[in-house]
Amino acid sequence: MSEILTPGEVKLRDGRSVGFANLDVAATAPCLRVVADAVADLLPYYGSVHRGAGALSERCTREYEQARETVADILGHGPDDTVIFTRNTTDAFNLLARAVPEGTTVVAFDAEHHANLLPWRDAVRVPAPRSPQEAIEALARVLHGLKGRNVLVSVTAASNVTGEVWPVAELAEVAHRHGARIAVDAAQLAPHAPGSLAGLGADYIAFSGHKLYAPFGAGVLAGRADWLDAAEPYLAGGGASAHVADDGTARWATGPARHEAGTPNLLGAVAIATALRALRDRDLATTEQALLRRLRAGLAALPHVEELRLFPADAERVGIVSFTVPGRDPGELAVTLGRDHGIGVRTGLFCAHPLTRRLLAEATGRLESGISEKSEKSRRGAPDFSQSAQAVRASFGIGTTEEHIDRLLAALQ
Ligand code: PLP
Repeated sequence: MSEILTPGEVKLRDGRSVGFANLDVAATAPCLRVVADAVADLLPYYGSVHRGAGALSERCTREYEQARETVADILGHGPDDTVIFTRNTTDAFNLLARAVPEGTTVVAFDAEHHANLLPWRDAVRVPAPRSPQEAIEALARVLHGLKGRNVLVSVTAASNVTGEVWPVAELAEVAHRHGARIAVDAAQLAPHAPGSLAGLGADYIAFSGHKLYAPFGAGVLAGRADWLDAAEPYLAGGGASAHVADDGTARWATGPARHEAGTPNLLGAVAIATALRALRDRDLATTEQALLRRLRAGLAALPHVEELRLFPADAERVGIVSFTVPGRDPGELAVTLGRDHGIGVRTGLFCAHPLTRRLLAEATGRLESGISEKSEKSRRGAPDFSQSAQAVRASFGIGTTEEHIDRLLAALQ
């Protein structure tokens, strides 16, 4: 039995059925069977959290708080840290952005996903570096220039566009040396290396359950409690209020409750904790890196296909590869892959518009110059490069097989 829940076979346009090749795991991962089982086991007891007496409420409150402890444990938290359950990574960064003390300068690289770009108004934007080492040096320079200010650096751990892994532990070291804090977008690292999150040295970590094989609508913002305890509640309402006077003024709770107003997402929290427990000690990398090598080598062998990358080709990465196929409308290509080959991919700019546009332009330029160096004959057969305003992304994880990768390569061929 597969350890993830899959739809099994899907029908193709020509009437044949094939096993679905889910190569869009970075957008939303399938559900781990242990996660579905944990949720199903809890459902008969489903009741209110923090809001009632009786067997159901007691159990649900206990499970919710145990989920919080599991996350804290896996993140290596100390007494000054807290775990807040959010809706997703986007929600987590919006919450953190509201909790950052007045006068704090936020520093973010241009390469970020919108979730870690748009919540920061007036951030100092650092141009996207061309290597992990350049990222470390650029951050050190910027922080040196901001000496004397309160600074929060916010950075991704792994790119959702290129899969490239950022040197977060080193960036955290640089940040701390300069008296700054660092927030880490672990949305794409958590599903590939959940056991590594504790070693990042981050002051704050954000990630989403639905990318971590735990699709029940919850995410996490975890980290140092002081800013969060001092901030206005993210949502005003029940649960966040310790006392409300007759005139409606509230004294707010401290701790995670302050930012979890309203009835919390019990199933989402339990799902995340179950997934983290199941995956923390697993070697996910060996299979994934073999699939990654297979896919990248196959793509490199295809003329008119070019991979998007910010860092050098041999930089460390997770199972995410974006590429351009000039001359083919990416949306139409994705539909063809789906209907004729049973493959799911993503196309577009992947909610990282500045980065993806730039990498697309570079990749297209590399292809164009490669083709112009060839014969007149191949120039005449060259694709229309004006159509490559969007990229195609293949991403994978648990449940992906060599056959899925080979099927994509064959279809692209
Ligand atoms: N950060 C990264 C790197 C992502 O890949 C994503 C989603 O694709 C997000 C943040 C936002 O995650 P969510 O849509 O779950 O809020």
